[in-house]
Amino acid sequence: MSLLVIGTLAYDTVETAHASRDRALGGSAVYFAVAAATSCQPRLVGVVGDDFQQEHLDDLTSRGVDCSGVERAEGKTFAWGGRYEPDWNTRHTTFTDLNVFEHFDPKVPESFTDSPFVFLANAHPAIQLKGLKQVTGKRFAVADTMNLWIDIARDELVELLGHVDGLILNDEEARMLTGLDNLHLAAEKVLEMGPRYVILKKGEHGAFLLGEGLHFALPAFPVTEVVDPTGAGDSFAGGFMGAIAQADSIDHDVLKRAMLHGTVTASFCVQGFSIEDLGQRGADDLQARYEQLRSICTV
Ligand code: AMP
Repeated sequence: MSLLVIGTLAYDTVETAHASRDRALGGSAVYFAVAAATSCQPRLVGVVGDDFQQEHLDDLTSRGVDCSGVERAEGKTFAWGGRYEPDWNTRHTTFTDLNVFEHFDPKVPESFTDSPFVFLANAHPAIQLKGLKQVTGKRFAVADTMNLWIDIARDELVELLGHVDGLILNDEEARMLTGLDNLHLAAEKVLEMGPRYVILKKGEHGAFLLGEGLHFALPAFPVTEVVDPTGAGDSFAGGFMGAIAQADSIDHDVLKRAMLHGTVTASFCVQGFSIEDLGQRGADDLQARYEQLRSICTV
């Protein structure tokens, strides 16, 4: 079934303790779409500037991503910079140039409005809600967010939470949003704010899903050669939502399997800059790691 993503297409400048990349293809919706494309044909809504290379759109299209909702505006593409500490857990945002994304007014093409599965990738919560309201066919909508929006757009984020079925966020964001240090209490408080499910990511310590009587936790896949963690959250979400769209169900067993899919998808993402590793992976690679993860965490 159809899966729609609304979010950023970007050029990222990333520095790690070992290497760096200048203006590599990135963006929350790009990572999500590339990740989801191994299980379905995601529909993408976003905006790029006149500097965005056509070959990047062609590459997404060749992966089965429907880019007819990507608008080209006058000006520069959203650009973001990040620097990682050697332990990978601490990321400093070095710059966020919103550029054409500053005035982004999401327009979901008529042909996308019947999408049952929707992912609102990281963006200002007012933009996320504006996009979501156009998807009349939505059955299961999940949003991502980040510390920036919790800080400067909390009211809009709280409003958005009344309209989505799920929220994906990391440990630091959960603590910031709820004011609670205990992550399970924080997750429960997020559920009180509206969504039926919350997925709380803990970086290299894995993730858990809570809601509707389901509590499911997973470790991260043990990756020994991390190159760049940028996009791990978005590719987790792409693997997770892609598996749900493919199964056309949100039964609890499907949600659990989708958590495994998200986890292994993210593990490929961190093995390269941009989509250099993730973009090479097919269903067979994912399945092999899926089985490995399953054997790691079950008896
Ligand atoms: P992640 O590592 O999963 O948090 O995602 C990193 C991606 O999100 C990068 O490719 C950035 O281009 C993009 N990004 C960073 N900050 C923002 C923001 N404020 N709004 C939307 N996308 C962002």
